[in-house]
Amino acid sequence: MIRKLLRKVFSHRAAPFSASQEPARIPVSLHGIRREQVSAGAVKVCAALQNRGYQAYIVGGAVRDLLAGHVPKDHDVATSATPEEVRALFRRSRIIGRRFKIVHVLNGAEVIEVSTFRASHEAETDRHGRVLADNIYGSQAEDAIRRDFTVNALYYDPLTETIVDYHHGVADLQQKTLRVIGEPRARYREDPVRMLRAVRLAAKLGLIIDPAARAPIRDMASLLENVPSARLFDETLKLLMSGNAVRAIGQLREEGLHHGLLPLLDIVLDQPIAERFIWLALENTDSRVRADKPVSASFLFAALLWPEVSRKWKVRQAAGEPLQQALFDAMDEVLAVQAQRLAITRRVAADIKELWALQPRFDKRAGRAPFRLIEHPRFRAAWDFLLLRAQAAGIPEELPDWWNRFAHTGQAEREELLRAVATGSGGKAPARKRRRRRKPADAAAPESAAAP
Ligand code: ATP
Ligand code: MG
Repeated sequence: MIRKLLRKVFSHRAAPFSASQEPARIPVSLHGIRREQVSAGAVKVCAALQNRGYQAYIVGGAVRDLLAGHVPKDHDVATSATPEEVRALFRRSRIIGRRFKIVHVLNGAEVIEVSTFRASHEAETDRHGRVLADNIYGSQAEDAIRRDFTVNALYYDPLTETIVDYHHGVADLQQKTLRVIGEPRARYREDPVRMLRAVRLAAKLGLIIDPAARAPIRDMASLLENVPSARLFDETLKLLMSGNAVRAIGQLREEGLHHGLLPLLDIVLDQPIAERFIWLALENTDSRVRADKPVSASFLFAALLWPEVSRKWKVRQAAGEPLQQALFDAMDEVLAVQAQRLAITRRVAADIKELWALQPRFDKRAGRAPFRLIEHPRFRAAWDFLLLRAQAAGIPEELPDWWNRFAHTGQAEREELLRAVATGSGGKAPARKRRRRRKPADAAAPESAAAP
């Protein structure tokens, strides 16, 4: 019913936009978003600003997600007040950023990001047309024009429960279309990351990228090479952690955006065996995100890069390098390649290495080593990783099973499990009698060196 009505009201296409254009003001009776659905903190911030005579709206992703029936992950506020004016109004707030000043206002544990309406027309650009600085404040209409997609240029006033829509974003969302505001080529040139955002948002919300916005992507993909690696890392992480990574990566490939963008994807998606492992890792991450379970960037990147590490590890061992040394060298080699494009932070890199370095320790099922391993603070994550390897058929399922039992049982049964390994019964049926012990598994050939 509401959809029908909206379709009727907004079925016409937008005329070429201009900042002087009057926006549509859509009442709650048409869009259905109640103030109770948005964060109490964001409502408070808007109310306080409006009380002082400023304009203030919830904007961007939160409005879009609510309209699409998703729960927003955070709330951004756009206002006519300058950062200094916002800062002065809220005791628990701070100004962040130098080039793009925004204010973080704290409400309990929640952080509300408040930004001042910005205009983009005088933005300084580099020789590729990329925007370097656009800290020039403007009107709400100007602020709407500089946003990337029509569905992202929606302003929700929680006090009147009205949506202000300059670019027919509500209608586009209803029609499941992701449309760029303005001329797509020019907008991608200004900021190539918008191409990635298009794919990510389309995958997240099940939208079709408007043909005019989709067509130039293949040609312009190489512009991503000029984007600073820290920004690329953030955007890639968002894509991978969206809960729709499988769909998003599939679409990146279709658009020709995976080449050069992510060396790790270049490598792995063109190798069938590695590919299976990667898709499993992505599916696994998607289902964790959807089940609201924590996912860590380090786990995900460790998984995505593992097939390559594993391959190089084997090559080095075959060339005569000792097992541990071969693994550490392979790890460094793979991370170094990634570092050229993706700014994997030092902390994340350290976590990734730890996960990898723990893997051969699962092969040591004798003596004190297993007791030490289960006490390791990262045992659980390393075990999850081992399970993923087993699911990808790189190693026998028996190994993660054994460790799961070993970690969650008492001393007596642990001894039994160790004996079972020593006698070669793999822990399936604990041996009754203590037999002559074989050489400890430490010295045995690494089981996990065989495949990813
Ligand atoms: P998410 O749900 O992942 O947070 P989002 O759209 O909210 O998606 P943010 O990075 O939080 O993404 O950006 C907030 C808003 O800022 C967007 O909705 C959009 O209006 C605007 N925006 C973000 N990035 C760009 C960009 N590269 N170019 C133009 N506008 C942008
Ligand atoms: Mg957001």
